[in-house]
Amino acid sequence: MARHLITSAIPYINGIKHLGNLVGSQLPADLFARYQRARGNEVLFLCATDEHGTPAELAAAKAGQPVAEYCAEMHQVQSRIAEGFRLSFDHFGRSSSPQNHALTQHFAGRLAEAGLIREVSETQMYSKADGRFLPDRYIEGTCPNCGFDSARGDQCDNCTKQLDPVDLINPHSTISGSTDLEMRETKHLYLCQSKMKDQLEEWIDTRVGWPVLTTSIAKKWLTDGDGLQDRGITRDLDWGIPVKRGDADWPGMEGKVFYVWFDAPIEYIACAQEWVDAGKGPDWERWWRTDKGADDVTYTQFMGKDNVPFHTLGFPATILGSGEPWKLVDFIKSFNYLNYEGGQFSTSRGRGVFMDQALEILPADYWRWWLLSHAPESSDSEFTWENFQASVNKDLADVLGNFVSRVTKFCRSKFGEIVPEGGSYGPQEEALIAELAERLRTYEAQMEAIEVRKAAQELRAIWVAGNEYLQASAPWAAFKEDPERAAAIVRFSLNLIPFYAALSSPFIPDAAEAMAAALPDAPVGWPEDVATALSAPTGGAAMQVPDNLFRKLTDEDVDNWKARYAGVRS
Ligand SMILES: [Zn+2]
Repeated sequence: MARHLITSAIPYINGIKHLGNLVGSQLPADLFARYQRARGNEVLFLCATDEHGTPAELAAAKAGQPVAEYCAEMHQVQSRIAEGFRLSFDHFGRSSSPQNHALTQHFAGRLAEAGLIREVSETQMYSKADGRFLPDRYIEGTCPNCGFDSARGDQCDNCTKQLDPVDLINPHSTISGSTDLEMRETKHLYLCQSKMKDQLEEWIDTRVGWPVLTTSIAKKWLTDGDGLQDRGITRDLDWGIPVKRGDADWPGMEGKVFYVWFDAPIEYIACAQEWVDAGKGPDWERWWRTDKGADDVTYTQFMGKDNVPFHTLGFPATILGSGEPWKLVDFIKSFNYLNYEGGQFSTSRGRGVFMDQALEILPADYWRWWLLSHAPESSDSEFTWENFQASVNKDLADVLGNFVSRVTKFCRSKFGEIVPEGGSYGPQEEALIAELAERLRTYEAQMEAIEVRKAAQELRAIWVAGNEYLQASAPWAAFKEDPERAAAIVRFSLNLIPFYAALSSPFIPDAAEAMAAALPDAPVGWPEDVATALSAPTGGAAMQVPDNLFRKLTDEDVDNWKARYAGVRS
């Protein structure tokens, strides 16, 4: 039995994500986790919310809530939506957990001992009224370029000019409104990534089978310009993990927290600890420590392409620099972007379909099927309502749903609610068994390689083959001349339903469950041999007609939704 550690990039806490975010990491990670479990392998599938940093503080302030309370509430919201999409995380953790606090401080301590952290003095805007340093986004003033009166410390939203807080005319704190600001000296910690360039390059060269996109992004960051830069890992903020050197205080760093980019990936490990502490698993170290059994673990990460540098360089620098035997990633699956109706999804303008809205209008399987079968793998892809409608109606309703409905209803009307006995399989059945055996091997190979779109195409071809068989063998015609032959056809077709349920379950888990329930006596689990799988259940076993698996989407549905999600959400 193989062991698979699977992580999805952790979504930021401030608000509900759109469908492009979903298909960029969580959903394909879930597909892979479900597939590996179905094959009988041991899987630990982890995700969490990324909760620290200025945007969380700002979102909490906007909601009129203390930031800790805001994060706790938004974590619940994201958790419920993940359940709605049937994302089968073994644990959905929080980067603000006590486990992540301790582990982040531990890593910082190890890196300091290894001489990989240096202190740097900088000047930063300080607000006397607020009693704190202000991040760039907490300062507003008049843009020196265009005169816009609400330009932020880092950028003017009106003319898009990049700014430094000292450039602003009449700057003020967005917390208190105070204009009593001054530049003060402050100290920060930097991770000496530049010292680790050779070690990182050597490690990347040992990664077998990484996509060219992933390796080339990593190498570019290593070698372009002045090469890999040291990065600040601390911030003058209240909300975050206090800067400590292991368990010990860090002189001069009082009141500061770690920068979110440093603590967020460490949550992948801390999340496994949370999983154990929640009583869901016995031992997290056998997944994460190569000296404690993680040597035989295959670790796969899922993420959008913008996250590749952090996962190929930033996080590995933390792990390698610690000098401890932590598990490093084996394979990175990265995605391009999903666009929406000829433009981009926009959180601020409410353009596109967000995860909560999607579940309000249709069950998860509709979205899962469309998103995965159109995953932005080799290039960006685009959601259009017409394409969604065509794909749902054709693949799910006309092909799969119709097959299940026709076979079970015909059986009930002619043979009752049992699998019919009599007759035997002939050349048509043998031909389909041979075709499906070959297609199954192809499907498995594509799922192993995480070729999401190709796997979806193969699954669709497997459904189509059953439909074509049913059409060609025509049990309704055979029934009049040769009821034994009709019984054999219906029995074979019914046996395809649990076979489809097993194969489809990583993509459309709810429909798969409904299909499996139609033949409750069928053997469960992945079909190792197609001929064996399609000879059970035998005649006399129970059969139930399931409710319609999928409804067809009408033109009226599509017109309504298109108008509703064009961009008005506040
Ligand atoms: Zn401006």
